[in-house]
Amino acid sequence: MAAQREWYEKDYYKVLGVKDDADPKSITKAYRKLARESHPDTHPGDAKAEDRFKEVSAAYDVLGDEAKRKEYDEVRRLGPADFARPGGGAPGGFNFNVGNDGFGDIFGQVFNSRRRGGGPSAAAGPQRGGDVEATLTLDFVDAAKGLTTTLHLTSDAQCSTCNGSGAKPGTQPKVCSQCGGRGVVNDNQGLFSLSSPCRVCGGAGVIIEHRCSTCSGSGVERRPRDVQARIPAGVADGQRIRLKGRGTPGRNGGPAGDLIVECRVAPHPRFGRDGNNLTVRVPVTFPQAALGGDIDVPTLDGPVVKLRLRPGTQSGSRHRVKGKGLATAKGAGDLIVTVEVQVPTHLTDEQRSAIEAFAAASTVTHGEREGG
Ligand SMILES: [Zn+2]
Ligand SMILES: [Zn+2]
Repeated sequence: MAAQREWYEKDYYKVLGVKDDADPKSITKAYRKLARESHPDTHPGDAKAEDRFKEVSAAYDVLGDEAKRKEYDEVRRLGPADFARPGGGAPGGFNFNVGNDGFGDIFGQVFNSRRRGGGPSAAAGPQRGGDVEATLTLDFVDAAKGLTTTLHLTSDAQCSTCNGSGAKPGTQPKVCSQCGGRGVVNDNQGLFSLSSPCRVCGGAGVIIEHRCSTCSGSGVERRPRDVQARIPAGVADGQRIRLKGRGTPGRNGGPAGDLIVECRVAPHPRFGRDGNNLTVRVPVTFPQAALGGDIDVPTLDGPVVKLRLRPGTQSGSRHRVKGKGLATAKGAGDLIVTVEVQVPTHLTDEQRSAIEAFAAASTVTHGEREGG
């Protein structure tokens, strides 16, 4: 396939001056710098600069796109010859073996392997935009109840100067005359009709004669933007929420990528979480625990509720208040109350005598049991 041979011969990493394993951010950074330096608008009539700009753009077109970059790396590793794999069948319904019959070499040059079920190569046509990741820190109550918030982020977005067309305002991208806007061309090779990405427009189907100076024709611009996000009730710390279509715009009419919001939930001074259940520790006095009775239990966002303790309730025991946990789409959780019996640190004389009397009574009971 045409693009493959080109790929095999060109070192796009070298063009952008980045390492083979550079991460997407450094690639974009390198591209922006070089594109600015060689931009035709800043070097009018300088053919060398224009060639350089084209070279840089072509390199970024491949390395800046995750899927294309993968293919490119593979082509460079394996070589450009990419014929139909044994058993895979050939486009157009022909099955043949690339074997000892001498066809291998010929087809190796001209054959366009369609890896994705018959469409043109992944290098052409609409491409989905990349996903964008953001982190959102929520307080405990907001995470529990859910909220709609505005995320302020700086990321690749549709260019605001050209509305994503890539063409200078007042001009229009021209339909590519080579491919008639289809982005692919058919070569007749005897029996076989083969499709390959249009070399003139690079598969875009259109040619931009006057590039938008903000985005250098990419239609994508890095800029701050606000995104409205609906965070569902009960989101957990570390949970990732996918907002469809809010990521980087697609290319050639492809769909936009997604915005992935990673939620960080701040702890609450009083309440904890266990799935949909809320947890809380409630102090009670020794008489309350020993005699039983109703105690007040706080709720996350409402008035206190009553919890009835049985006589002889133990410190550390857990009690369930139905339906007072998190109200999520999956239903309401419960409030799990852990009772903590408090030991007084200061006693009035009256309290001291009462406890001493209690102690004396307890010792007698205890002693009787031991004795009996
Ligand atoms: Zn633009
Ligand atoms: Zn074309």
